[in-house]
Amino acid sequence: MTVINPIEEAEALADKLSGLDLAGRLSFVAGLGGRVVFTTSLGIEDQVITAEIGTHRLPIDVVTLQTGRLFKETLDLISETESQYDIHITRYEPEQADIDAYAAKYGMNGFYESVEARHACCGVRKLKPLARALAGATIWITGLRRGQSANRAETPFAEYDAERHLLKVNPLADWDIDKIKAFVADNGVPINPLHARGYPSIGCEPCTRAIKPGEPERAGRWWWEQDEKRECGLHVAEEAAAIAVQQ
Ligand code: SF4
Repeated sequence: MTVINPIEEAEALADKLSGLDLAGRLSFVAGLGGRVVFTTSLGIEDQVITAEIGTHRLPIDVVTLQTGRLFKETLDLISETESQYDIHITRYEPEQADIDAYAAKYGMNGFYESVEARHACCGVRKLKPLARALAGATIWITGLRRGQSANRAETPFAEYDAERHLLKVNPLADWDIDKIKAFVADNGVPINPLHARGYPSIGCEPCTRAIKPGEPERAGRWWWEQDEKRECGLHVAEEAAAIAVQQ
């Protein structure tokens, strides 16, 4: 029996996906078996993926991290999207005990005070719920694009996430924002009204601001931090564990 290691498996999958369109990429991944999970932040990229999953009735679990600090516009969009595509988006929320412990140690908005406090908040409100959302998953689909930031410039179509022991698939890796917007317009995809108000990337309300003309797409996320590679941790595996194939 030929044993394929997960890195080679991801490389082969990335190669296969590179030759398919978006619907083909998602259909192929959905057909691989196991639990396939798409985590949506309801951002414009994720809405394109959700539209394809809903339109083609693909057997992919659509989930979101309801951090408790989202914009009202984002919460409204969850319901609107479910209605438009007749799908269910499962909300994963933080544990109240974790929220209370965080608030006791750092204060409810302590994330402005230090990178450590910010990572702790993202850990409680995003990473722990993400771990529950991905429990038992074999494939994790994301809306990452190479053009979103310098930190994402090498995003592969597929990579092995050694920390979570699954294949991570990024079917929009090679799409640019113009292609995303054209798809949305051509297909009547509902999007967050905040995009039109200067928010190309939308996360939790206290940690997202509108960007100025010419700024990178993710400049409005945790804008008070200096680290150019700031992320919430969802897509930043431990150095030793993350094995990127391509992105
Ligand atoms: S983005 Fe901000 S509010 Fe949301 S989990 Fe991270 S630190 Fe907390």
